[in-house]
Amino acid sequence: LYKETRLLAITDGLTGLYNHRFFTEKLNEEINRARRYGRPLSVIMIDIDYFKHYNDTHGHQMGDVVLMQMAELLKKSLRNTDFVARYGGEEFVIILSETDKGGAMQMAERTRKAVEEHHFPHQDTQPEGNVTISLGIASLNVDANDADGLIKKADDALFRAKESGRNRVEMA
Ligand code: GH3
Ligand code: MG
Ligand code: MG
Repeated sequence: LYKETRLLAITDGLTGLYNHRFFTEKLNEEINRARRYGRPLSVIMIDIDYFKHYNDTHGHQMGDVVLMQMAELLKKSLRNTDFVARYGGEEFVIILSETDKGGAMQMAERTRKAVEEHHFPHQDTQPEGNVTISLGIASLNVDANDADGLIKKADDALFRAKESGRNRVEMA
């Protein structure tokens, strides 16, 4: 019972991914570890492109199907030591321990491509004829020294990815 209750408290009901609260806990833990051993750490913020358009066109329930498929794709693209959570509505975040900016860039690009190549239901009605994601990367020590700073920098990079055309990766 304890295990079940604990799992419910740290996961997101729709996607089964870890929730925002547990992500924050985990990020602080990983930052402490990275600092203690002088190891690299990066985060990737992810946001689905034109998702409001998808919901408006096909309804919220179909949108939920996309979110569930997206979660599966993200899980599949991870390595053992990576951690993925649902950050908010149609936003996800990945923690890459032991990974510098170059490694994070490779990982992000691979994930972007997997989503681009996946066939989501009704994707052809989207503005670019496809369901895609934009991604922003930030690395510990290089871009920021704490959790808040790291998220802020990854978010700024994500914003630039949106501005410069979406379906792309930007680094802090
Ligand atoms: P952009 O490319 O700039 O990210 O545009 P966008 O339309 O994705 O961004 P916007 O923030 O305008 O819309 C996000 C949408 O995500 C609006 C909201 O209804 C939808 N959304 C958030 N959470 C959920 C959810 O749990 N289920 C569904 N179906 N939709 C959700
Ligand atoms: Mg968003
Ligand atoms: Mg969006």
